[in-house]
Amino acid sequence: MTQVRLDAPPALRRIPSVERLLAHAMGLSLAAEYGRSALTGAIRDDLARIRAGDAPAGDEAEILARCGEALAADRQPSLRPVFNLTGTVLHTNLGRALLPRSAARAVEAVMVQATNLEFDLATGNRGERDDHVERLICRLTGAEAAIVVNNNAAAVLLVLNALAMRKEVVVSRGELVEIGGSFRVPDVMVRAGCRLREVGTTNRTHLRDFAEAFGPATGLAMKVHPSNYAITGFTAQPDPDALHALCRERGVPLAEDLGSGSLIDLAAYGLPPEPTVTSALSRADVVTFSGDKLLGGVQCGIVAGRKDLLARIRKSPLKRALRVDKMTYAALEAVLRLYLHPERLRDELPTLRLLTRERADIAAQASRLAPAVAERLKGRAEVSVMDTMSQIGSGALPIETLPSAALVLTPIAEGRSRSAGGRCRRLAESLRGLPTPIIGRIKDDAILLDLRTLEDEQGFLDSLSVL
Ligand SMILES: *Cc1c(COP(=O)(O)O)cnc(C)c1O
Repeated sequence: MTQVRLDAPPALRRIPSVERLLAHAMGLSLAAEYGRSALTGAIRDDLARIRAGDAPAGDEAEILARCGEALAADRQPSLRPVFNLTGTVLHTNLGRALLPRSAARAVEAVMVQATNLEFDLATGNRGERDDHVERLICRLTGAEAAIVVNNNAAAVLLVLNALAMRKEVVVSRGELVEIGGSFRVPDVMVRAGCRLREVGTTNRTHLRDFAEAFGPATGLAMKVHPSNYAITGFTAQPDPDALHALCRERGVPLAEDLGSGSLIDLAAYGLPPEPTVTSALSRADVVTFSGDKLLGGVQCGIVAGRKDLLARIRKSPLKRALRVDKMTYAALEAVLRLYLHPERLRDELPTLRLLTRERADIAAQASRLAPAVAERLKGRAEVSVMDTMSQIGSGALPIETLPSAALVLTPIAEGRSRSAGGRCRRLAESLRGLPTPIIGRIKDDAILLDLRTLEDEQGFLDSLSVL
C-alpha cells in the first residue's frame, strides 16, 4: 500500500495507488499483454521515480503509458542481431564468426530433443562427447587426437596445467604476448600452476637458449603465435624443425598456441598466409586454436596433437570444468563437415566468403546501395562511397588488411549548433538504436559502413527505414 503523508507536497498527495492503476482500463489491457506482476513492477518503478522527482506525476493514463513503454522496451531481448559494418570481419565484441545455416539447423535439432552426447549408439555404453568431432578434426589436420573446450584461452590453460603443473614451461621472451587485454601468457601460466622459464630476448631467441633451459624441472616448451603484433628488424627465433628435434631428443613436449589457426591454406584464396593447423602439427606435439576465428565456427578451443599427450590432457579435472555443451559440438561438427568439400567451402562458410570478397564487388554494392541509403538518411546525412581497408580481426594476420569499400555517412549540420564530432556521435547512436542496430566506425567526423560484411541488403535497408 502506498501511504502518502498528509504533510507531503501536494503533487505527491495526488499520486494514484498501484491498485487504482491496475484497475484502470489501460492497466487491465497492459496486464493482459505483459502479465500482472510485470505491470505491477513497472508501476512501482514509475511511482518511485515520481516520488524522487525524476518523472512528472501526470494523470493515470500518462503513468500507464510510460509503464507500457518501459514494458515494451523490456521485452526486447538483450542479445540480438546487429549489422557489423565495422570493417573487422571477426569482431570479438560482435560475436566473431558467423555460422553457416547448416550449423544453426544442427544446433536447433539437438537443443529441443535428447541427444547421444555421451552415449555410444552402437554399443549402448557410455560415450565420449569429443567423439562427435574428434575424427573430423583428425582427418582435416592430420592430428592423432583432439579435445574441445570452451575457448582457446581454456585450451591453453588446460594444456599447461595437464602437462606441466608444478614444472617449468620454457617460452621465448619474444612470445610472451597479451591478447585482447585479458589473456596474457605469463598470467595464464601462473593460473595453470606452471613456472614460466623465459629464454632469449625480446627480439632474438636461439635454439641454444632452449637447450640450456631444459632440465629436470622442465615440463613443456611452448611457442605462441604473435597474433596481434610483429617484431621486425634484427630478430631471430629458432628453426621450428630444429626446436622440435631438440625437444624430442630431450623428452620435452612442445606445444604451440596458434590463436587463430586455419584449417586451410589461405594463400590459395588470395589471402595473406596464416599458419595452418596441419603445418603447426608437423613442428609441435600439441597445437591449440580457436573455433570462432579463422576456422569460422562456434566459440570453442581445440587441442589437437599426439595421442599419448592428449590422453593425459583428457584425464585432467580441468577438462571437466572447461567442457562444452551439445550445441557447440553440433555447430562445430556442421562447420567441420563443410571443410570436407573444399570446392564449396568459399560459398558455404561465411567467414571465408566474406574474407575473400573482392574490392570491385564490394565497391559495386556500395554504389548500388548509396542512393537508397541517401534517401533514408535525407536531411540527416550525406552519403558517398569510398575505398577503405577491412581487417580480418581477432588477432589473425595483425598487419594485413583487405581492400574494401564503404558507405560514408556525413551528418548534415542542423539548426542548433553542434560540433561535427557531436553530430557524428549522435548519428552513430541513432544507428545503434535501430531495431537491428547498424554498427560502423567513426573516422574524420563521418561514419564509415564497410560493406565487406553486408549480405542481407534488404534487411539493412529495412532497418534504416525506421531511422
Ligand atoms: C585469440 C587468441 C587466444 C584466445 O583465444 P579465445 O578463443 O579468444 O579464447 C589465445 N592465444 C592466441 C595466440 C590468440 O590469438
